[in-house]
Amino acid sequence: MNIYGDMRICTKCDMKADVVENGKDYCAECWWESFSNTGIKLKDYHKQEKENNIERTKSNQKKV
Ligand SMILES: [Zn+2]
Repeated sequence: MNIYGDMRICTKCDMKADVVENGKDYCAECWWESFSNTGIKLKDYHKQEKENNIERTKSNQKKV
């Protein structure tokens, strides 16, 4: 029996894992850093995405 129940633990940092890759559990951050190959941090990526969404919202409002 798994003592964690359904909860998965990141193999790298012991945070709650969101992703399974090659049979190993990773949290979003560690998975991103290991497999994304973008060279940017997940936090920065989300920040960038948020800014992009704001830009998108602005341009949508212009159309309306
Ligand atoms: Zn992790």
